Amino acid sequence: MKCILVTGGAGFLGSHLCEHLLNDGHEVICLDNFFTGTKKNIIHLMDRPYFEVIRHDVINPIYLEVDEIYNLACPASPIQYQFNGIKTVKTSVMGSINMLGLAKRVKAKILQASTSEVYGDPQVHPQPEEYWGNVNPIGERACYDEGKRCAETLFMSYHKQNDVKIKIARIFNTYGKRMGLNDGRVVSNIVLQAIRGEDITIYGDGSQTRSFMYVDDLVEALILLMGTDDSVTGPVNIGNPNEITILELAKLIVDLTGSTSKFVFKKLPNDDPAKRNPDISLAKEVLNGWQPKVSLEMGLIETIQYFKNLQ
Ligand code: NAD
Ligand code: UDP
Repeated sequence: MKCILVTGGAGFLGSHLCEHLLNDGHEVICLDNFFTGTKKNIIHLMDRPYFEVIRHDVINPIYLEVDEIYNLACPASPIQYQFNGIKTVKTSVMGSINMLGLAKRVKAKILQASTSEVYGDPQVHPQPEEYWGNVNPIGERACYDEGKRCAETLFMSYHKQNDVKIKIARIFNTYGKRMGLNDGRVVSNIVLQAIRGEDITIYGDGSQTRSFMYVDDLVEALILLMGTDDSVTGPVNIGNPNEITILELAKLIVDLTGSTSKFVFKKLPNDDPAKRNPDISLAKEVLNGWQPKVSLEMGLIETIQYFKNLQ
């Protein structure tokens, strides 16, 4: 039994990770400031004796004794990370410094939830880990993208200078149960609009692409990545290579919900990446042949049911 700290544990991904780690027989400490996370996401875990919740902001140091750290604390949806861009940078940078300092002190292994956003609006397609990306350092998405890039730098530096055992997961768009209802991300937006019969908002002409991974596939990969041997330190893409345009995604959601909603086309936000698709060769190699198992259709059916139950 390990003692595992999950920062951002009350968020969408963090809550699934906490649950999975508890089910694997570990002691889990969920640390969260509840900015975008909620107790509702973890309420079903509260009576488990090996589950503990700490209300804390990662921009401040904390002293704990743990074996492993999953550093997920950071708002992930554009409207939420742009709400207070300075705080978003602080969360990624100061949060990483604090968690890396903790990992160094107690000799814990630490995994960073990085993002496909480090590739920005990519000019190489699909994106392999060697690609350095194309990020606007002063754009609307910069607080998130550059914060996460700097976090990767810090992780590599603590590894090289202080021998901290690190893992970096570059996570591509992930969806599923417990996504924030009003988080503004495309899957939650369109599923809710379709269920409620409201207009479906497509930004731009909907020809931009993303590659969507179901949350269960991600959690499995994160735990496998944490378990890899010490030779695996650099970034590893974790995503589903099944690329789709936003318009195709919206049509699929309309079909699956039987919705009568119509599409309305809105202005494309600045710096919105035109395409995104992970090259997951490295993940397959280092994660014992891991690859996503849940099809977009199956994952959307689960997600739609979850959102319907909330109405
Ligand atoms: P989320 O917003 O649901 O979860 C983030 C959690 O971090 C929330 O519970 C929030 O309250 C907490 N948090 C934010 N700032 C904090 C702070 N300063 N101190 C303590 N807690 C703080 O987002 P998510 O989708 O679950 O994403 C989790 C992580 O995975 C994030 O780091 C995100 O960047 C990364 N990621 C997510 C995706 C995705 O598609 N969901 C893709 C790439 C990377
Ligand atoms: N998007 C959209 N309608 C919405 C919300 C988002 O067309 O109601 C688009 C958005 O412009 C982007 C894509 O969907 O091109 C994915 O957006 P999301 O915010 O989910 O993730 P990210 O842009 O960070 O990949």
